[in-house]
Amino acid sequence: MLQELTYGRLENEFYNRKAEENDLVICVKKNQILLKRENEFQIIYPTVATVEKWAKDHEWSAWRTEKLQYVFRMQDVNYFLWMGESGETGEDSYHYEEIRQVSQFETKDACFAACTAMHLYVWYRNNRFCGACQTPTVHDTKERMLRCPNCGNLIFPRISPAVIIGVTNGEKLLLSKYAGRAYTRYALIAGFTEIGETMEETVQREVMEEVGLHVKNIRYYKSQPWGRDGGVLMGFFCDLDGSDEIHLDENELALAEWHDRQALPAHDDGISLTREMIRVFEEGREPSFP
Ligand SMILES: [Zn+2]
Repeated sequence: MLQELTYGRLENEFYNRKAEENDLVICVKKNQILLKRENEFQIIYPTVATVEKWAKDHEWSAWRTEKLQYVFRMQDVNYFLWMGESGETGEDSYHYEEIRQVSQFETKDACFAACTAMHLYVWYRNNRFCGACQTPTVHDTKERMLRCPNCGNLIFPRISPAVIIGVTNGEKLLLSKYAGRAYTRYALIAGFTEIGETMEETVQREVMEEVGLHVKNIRYYKSQPWGRDGGVLMGFFCDLDGSDEIHLDENELALAEWHDRQALPAHDDGISLTREMIRVFEEGREPSFP
């Protein structure tokens, strides 16, 4: 999966660290990230020194190296976020690329860095002012937290829990396709947890809402951070309880079908929890109900 890195792990402990010239910078413009592709399989992010030169040459408004926000460390390299407006580079090799594009790319480490940085970028950007009293927030120096100097409101990174659900019916697995989305491949039923709900209740509600089925024997499989959408995904398997007749929510789904274990039309891409769960079912290795 995406977070299972080739080299070590993402060290996401917070430090009040200042950027140095060889550190890397993630520059965001809307849903795009500034990068260079070295060859088909490698993504390169610019260094602080490189971005500083672009910022001076092309007048990026408000650029100050001291304002770079430290986010995490990967493969012994520090990553920073530029929270101001990102502008032109004057170089053909560097370009802005959609985060969805980047996260489908094959070098997992660079993709995971992009998704996690985007998650943090959106959180920092959306909390520049206190939601309670509208005062500009300040960065805490000891932990990843924003603080309101007026009313004392403390704002921690927001992570939205969501579930991915493998609904099984004996030797069959329920696969679906989203309605009206760019992603047209097979998926599993999924959805965000509501306030006041257990994860198990999310599983039951989402399956009922999207395909009109009852489920039982809900068991946890694995989780995955999914920063592109600001979430953490929790994978569950469960068994059909009662009728297998599907009543499709056509606002959410284009189709939902039962597929035999031996003839599943989707395969593991090494990136997503959804596709790993499909493979695990294919191999008969889904967790059994205790
Ligand atoms: Zn406040």
